[in-house]
Amino acid sequence: MSLGKAFNVGTKGLKIPAIGLGTWKSSPGEVANAVKVAIQAGYRHIDCAAIYGNEGEVGQGIKNGGVPREQLFITSKLWNAEHSPSRVGPALDKTLSDLGLDYLDLYLMHWPVAFGEGRTKDDKPNIDWDLTNDVHPTWEAMENLVESGKVKNIGISNFTIPKMEKLFSKAKIRPAVNQVELNLQCAQPELVAWAAKNDILLEAYSPLGSTGAPQLEDPVVQEIAKAHNTQPANVLISWQVARGIVCLPKSVTPDRIRSNFEDIELSKEEVAKLEKQAATFGTKRTVDPSEGWGVKIWED
Ligand code: NDP
Repeated sequence: MSLGKAFNVGTKGLKIPAIGLGTWKSSPGEVANAVKVAIQAGYRHIDCAAIYGNEGEVGQGIKNGGVPREQLFITSKLWNAEHSPSRVGPALDKTLSDLGLDYLDLYLMHWPVAFGEGRTKDDKPNIDWDLTNDVHPTWEAMENLVESGKVKNIGISNFTIPKMEKLFSKAKIRPAVNQVELNLQCAQPELVAWAAKNDILLEAYSPLGSTGAPQLEDPVVQEIAKAHNTQPANVLISWQVARGIVCLPKSVTPDRIRSNFEDIELSKEEVAKLEKQAATFGTKRTVDPSEGWGVKIWED
């Protein structure tokens, strides 16, 4: 892989491109073209998930991108309804078949929450509390996927520090990454410091503030963009990369896909300015299904 910056991932000397294309809410009819445009613009990293319901089309885009498979870094995620250890292998097989691939570079546990069968009377998912309170049996099944050769790395998503500490104490294979919300209004400096100290790479989801990219309007972001003669999106993306974090901007708009890939060099002072601005917001999540699922996801 020669295009763009990359970080080390896992323990086998593999690299992960620092900028990857997000595909959540990328509709069928749009996402195949988005993925193709991204690959042709230089992206080598695509972030997918079974629950996005578009892996078939993403796979078409990967094929149409015309780049050899081994030059790409493809991530997907195990959905909450597939945490039962016997379901993990078949869930991966379905994702591989939809994407038209025979291996993934990274497979993530999407949430530290397991759904059982059916729904409750008030139409919430039926939580499997055993597999939610202790995700290790699900993780063990994911470890077996590495041994099978169908995935190169495994990781987690939406895990807090206490949840990581609990999993790390039992895991045979340490999670290579934790994919979490990281942006100007949810900068999570404690998590970033903890991850650096404990050798786990972070990936930033919703780096622009999610749908509609509201954080592009921030005055500090705009001022830095002006100084670099670039778009506000490039400031937000490059800030995460400067923090040592993989960044996953989503777009289905060809011009934005192309311009988002241009990583700019921010000065130390600019990074400090963005961190200071972020501190004024605290932790304001845009992605939080806790209430809808009836699970306190962030409290431990
Ligand atoms: P983003 O922060 O990436 O924002 C996406 C929005 O920004 C879209 O509306 C897009 O519009 C717009 N946009 C993109 N680039 C620009 C630009 N240059 N100028 C103006 N607007 C722009 O949000 P997401 O929530 O999608 O997060 C990114 C990815 O992270 C997801 O797609 C998914 O892959 C991953 N993710 C993972 C989660 C997890 O639980 N692990 C949760 C949430 C996201 P348009 O597409 O119309 O161009």
